[in-house]
Amino acid sequence: MNTANYKEIIEEIKPYGAHLVAVSKTKPAQDIVALYNEGQRIFGENKVQELVGKAAELPKDIHWHLIGHLQTNKVKQVAPFISMIHSVDSLKLLTEINKQAQLNNRNINCLLQVFIADEETKFGLNKAELLELLSSSAFAELQNVHICGLMGMATNTTDEQKIAAEFQGLQNLFLELKHTHFSDKPYFKELSMGMSSDYRIALKFGATLIRIGSMLFGER
Ligand SMILES: *Cc1c(COP(=O)(O)O)cnc(C)c1O
Repeated sequence: MNTANYKEIIEEIKPYGAHLVAVSKTKPAQDIVALYNEGQRIFGENKVQELVGKAAELPKDIHWHLIGHLQTNKVKQVAPFISMIHSVDSLKLLTEINKQAQLNNRNINCLLQVFIADEETKFGLNKAELLELLSSSAFAELQNVHICGLMGMATNTTDEQKIAAEFQGLQNLFLELKHTHFSDKPYFKELSMGMSSDYRIALKFGATLIRIGSMLFGER
């Protein structure tokens, strides 16, 4: 675990009021404990099985965020304890999250994942799909999910202008939706974007949650 990088990131994000999601995927529990002992409480994982195992053995005041693609049949396993799901990319998935939240007598915080990169492999909704989801009558009926904002991943490139344009596009969409669909929902306030390679750009475009793995825990 790189304590110097951790402290530097915490100082860097302070003026922006953003929060750090420490992405601990593939790393052992002891690495998480080391960062926990520095004061970090939000950790991100991308696989349900790994997340559930770590959550069971680690301190209960950790806020676990799921950042990876989630299959409908696995929602049940995380529903009792998950703090936020960043990777909601369909009404079907959101409906299942709502159902499992209800069974656990709770609300589950969700972000809608938006496709902003020009790569085939990244998950997420495009703007038209997002608007369709938000306008559907089925969405209006969901009582146990809080849509807290949007999440996106920029193209994996060294072209900083391209990354900036993608983050700016996501910020614009976020601000638009806040006005058109969530003006009565104060919890719609999160913009999850930026990883080790591009978080400084993301902060300039209003990121409130940055998801950082390798800079903290080393290469995977
Ligand atoms: C792995 C991962 C990260 C962290 O990436 P690093 O480059 O290691 O900082 C962020 N977001 C998502 C969705 C990831 O899967």
